[in-house]
Amino acid sequence: MNPHTHFLFPFVLGLLFTKLGFFSWELALLAGIIGAFVDMDHYIEHILHSKKNRFSLKSTWNNSMKYHTFRQRSFIHDTNGAIILGFLFIILSFFWWQIALSFALGYYSHLLLDKIHLRKKQFLGRKNLHLYIHISYEEFLLDVLLVIFLGSYLLI
Ligand SMILES: [Zn+2]
Repeated sequence: MNPHTHFLFPFVLGLLFTKLGFFSWELALLAGIIGAFVDMDHYIEHILHSKKNRFSLKSTWNNSMKYHTFRQRSFIHDTNGAIILGFLFIILSFFWWQIALSFALGYYSHLLLDKIHLRKKQFLGRKNLHLYIHISYEEFLLDVLLVIFLGSYLLI
């Protein structure tokens, strides 16, 4: 999934929690930022393993989208990372349970979206400004639904 979907999904879920009365929009926004931020491990892995353009965000992006010359996901995308971070969220919840919930919402929604993202027929697949962009029909549909929910949340 693309970063905007990793942001929108936990943000909208957080706003749903806000409607239910036990969350704030700031925490929903934090969940969205965490959701998108999880993939920053791709950049760190790129710096560690790339032979050239080590600090290039564009090179990191294109390797993730198209070339896949090495695995860019770190342990936080795996089961061990999910368990370790789960323990950290539990410990954090003893002090600030809403912040822990926000972190967990962003992180676990990211893992869920990564797991259900399979190679599917592309709605958009092109190279713009030397950046490869891929969006499947399913991701595009999910984005539309999330934006509709976001719009209705802001209007009501
Ligand atoms: Zn990811």
